[in-house]
Amino acid sequence: MRIAVIDYDRCNPDKCGHFLCERVCPVNRMGGEAIIIDEENYRPIIQEASCTGCGICVHKCPFNAITIVNLPEALEEGCVHRYGINAFVLYRLPVIKEGMVVGILGPNGAGKTTAVRILAGQMIPNLCGDNDSWDSVIKMFRGNELQTYFEKLKNNEIRPVVKPQYVDLIPRAVKGKVRDLLRKADERNALEEIAAELGITEILDRNIDQLSGGELQLVAIAAALLRDAQFYFFDEPSSYLDIKQRLKVARIIRKLADSGKSVLAVEHDLAVLDYLSDIIHVVYGKPGTYGIFSKPKGVRNGINEFLRGYLKDENVRFRPYEIRFTKSGERKSQGSEILVEYPRLVKDYSSFRLEADPGTLYMGEVVSIVGPNGIGKTTFVKMLAGVEKPTEGEVDWELKVSYKPQYIRADYEGTVYELLSRIDASKLLSNFYKTELLNPLGIPELYDKQINDLSGGELQRVAITACLLRDADLYLLDEPSAHLDVEQRLAASRAIRHLMEKGEKTALVVEHDVLMIDYISDRIMVFEGEPGRYGRALPPMGMRDGMNRFLAGVGITFRRDPDSGRPRANKEGSVKDREQKEIGEYYYVAP
Ligand code: ADP
Ligand code: ADP
Ligand code: SF4
Ligand code: SF4
Repeated sequence: MRIAVIDYDRCNPDKCGHFLCERVCPVNRMGGEAIIIDEENYRPIIQEASCTGCGICVHKCPFNAITIVNLPEALEEGCVHRYGINAFVLYRLPVIKEGMVVGILGPNGAGKTTAVRILAGQMIPNLCGDNDSWDSVIKMFRGNELQTYFEKLKNNEIRPVVKPQYVDLIPRAVKGKVRDLLRKADERNALEEIAAELGITEILDRNIDQLSGGELQLVAIAAALLRDAQFYFFDEPSSYLDIKQRLKVARIIRKLADSGKSVLAVEHDLAVLDYLSDIIHVVYGKPGTYGIFSKPKGVRNGINEFLRGYLKDENVRFRPYEIRFTKSGERKSQGSEILVEYPRLVKDYSSFRLEADPGTLYMGEVVSIVGPNGIGKTTFVKMLAGVEKPTEGEVDWELKVSYKPQYIRADYEGTVYELLSRIDASKLLSNFYKTELLNPLGIPELYDKQINDLSGGELQRVAITACLLRDADLYLLDEPSAHLDVEQRLAASRAIRHLMEKGEKTALVVEHDVLMIDYISDRIMVFEGEPGRYGRALPPMGMRDGMNRFLAGVGITFRRDPDSGRPRANKEGSVKDREQKEIGEYYYVAP
C-alpha cells in the first residue's frame, strides 16, 4: 500500500525542465505509466498502483513537491477521507463516548481538523473513493460506537457544537457586545452562571473588537458551553490563557462530560490535555501527507507513548527518539557574565502600577516569565529596553531588545523569504542558523509562501525566527507556544536555548505551558498582583523557588510522571495535592 502526495503549490513544471519527474521515473522509462500528465491542469499525476516507490522522482524534483510513503497493508480498510488524487489521506477516526472527554494529541497538518469537520457533520467523508452518502459511512463503522453516532448525525438528531481554533478571527466575523453574542448562544439559560464561572462577567458589556486574545478565548468557550447539544468539540481551548484559566477551563469542560455529554478536545499543552481527558488518541503519520488516529489509550499511558515515539498496540515507531523531562532542579546561570543589574523600577500608568524588585540578568540564560496577562510583563521589558521611562528608578544602559509580541499580525506583503532576508540575509545562509534555528522550525519549507497565506502555527514559527534573527542583547518572546504542536514547541524551546547559550545572549520568555517552562528555563521570574490594576515583579529566581512561589499563588501542585519525567497537575484536594501543599513543594517534590 503506497501513497503519493504532490504539493501542487510547489510544483512548477516550467521551472523543473518540463515535468522532470515524469522523465526520470524508471517505470515510465520502461514504457509504463507511474506518472502521467494532466494536460488540462498542466500538472503531473502519480498513479499509486503502478508506482514502485523507488523514490527517484522525490529526490529529483527541485521543488520538493513530491512525497511517497509505504504504509502497512492493514490500513487500507480504515481509509476515511482523501482530499483528491495525490492529496492528503486520513485513516480512522477518534471514538466518541457519552460522558467522556476524548483528547486528541498530534502534530499540525495530521488531519485533526478534517476529522472534526467530519464528526461535526460539516462534510461527508469520501472514504477515499467517490462516496457522498452517510449510509456508506455508517456501514464502514458498523459495530463501532461511531455507527450510532453517524446514524444520529444523518437523521439530524445530533447537533454538534464546535469551539474553533483561531479565536483571534472572531472579531472579523461577529460585531457588537459580548453579552449579545452570548445571549444568542444561550440555549441553556445559563449566561450569568457560565460567565461568572469563567470570570468574564466584567467584560459582558464590552465590544468584541476590544477584547484581548485570552478574553476572546473565554468568550468562545462560553458560547460553546451555553449551547444545548450532545456533542461538543473544543479545538485548542488553552491558547492565550494563563495557567489558572487553563485548568479552570479544563475543569468546566470536564463537568460537561460528567453531565453525560460527549466531548472531543484537541490540545497541545500536555499538562492541560492530561488534566482534561478521560482517554486520548494519538494522531501520527506525516503532516501534509497522511494521518492515522491511533486506538483509544489511557491518558497517562497515551501521552507517555507519544513522548516515547512508539505506539505499543499499533507497534509503530513514529519518531526516532524519545522526549524526556529529566531535569530535577536547578540550572546554572551564575558564573556567566552579567547582562544587566537593574534597580527597583516603578511604572505608573493612569490605572495601572508596576513595581519591579531589583534583579540581575546573566548572559547566556533563558528566564521564563510567569504570571497572568495584564500584570505588567511587557511594561517591565520596555523599561529594560529603554523604550518606556520608569516613573521611579533610573535606566542608564542601552540594551538592544528584540521582541516577539503575543498577538502576531500577517500584515506584510511578500514571502517568508523576503521578510526574513530583510532582517539578515547572511544568517539564512549560515550553517549555524540553519542547524540551530531554521531547519528545526521547518522554515525553509515556508520560504516561498506569502506571509498572509500562513496558518497560525506557521506564522508563529516565522515570528519566532524573525525575532531570533535580529541582533540584540535581550530577546523577549511573548507566548511562543501559541498554535504550535508539541514537537514544534520543543523545537522552538531548544532553538531559543541554544542560540542564547552559544551567542551569550539573554532571553525572557513569557510562557504558560508548564512543560515548555520546564524544558526551556534556567531561571524564572514571577509576576504577582491584580491584572489590569497592580503588578509586582519578583527578581529572577531558581526554578524550585520560582515554581513554588508561582504555583502557590495559583493554588495548583504538580507531580512528576515516573516514566517520562513530565510534570502532571494533581487533582485539587487529592492526597498528593494536600501533602505537597503542606510541605510547600508545589512542583519539585523533595526526593
Ligand atoms: P490538523 O488539524 O491536524 O492541523 P488538517 O485536518 O487541517 O490538519 O489538515 C490535514 C492536511 O489536509 C493538511 O496537509 C492540509 O493541507 C490538507 N487539507 C486540508 N483541507 C484540504 C482541502 N480542502 N484540500 C486539500 N487538502 C486539504
Ligand atoms: P502583560 O505584558 O503582563 O500582559 P502589560 O505590561 O502589557 O501586561 O500591561 C499591564 C497593564 O498596563 C495593562 O492593564 C495595560 O492596559 C496597562 N498599560 C500598558 N501600557 C499602557 C500605556 N501606555 N498607557 C496606559 N496603560 C498601559
Ligand atoms: Fe517538476 Fe517537481 Fe512538478 Fe514533477 S513535481 S513537474 S519534478 S516541479
Ligand atoms: Fe516513478 Fe519511482 Fe516516483 Fe514511483 S517513486 S513515480 S516509480 S520515480
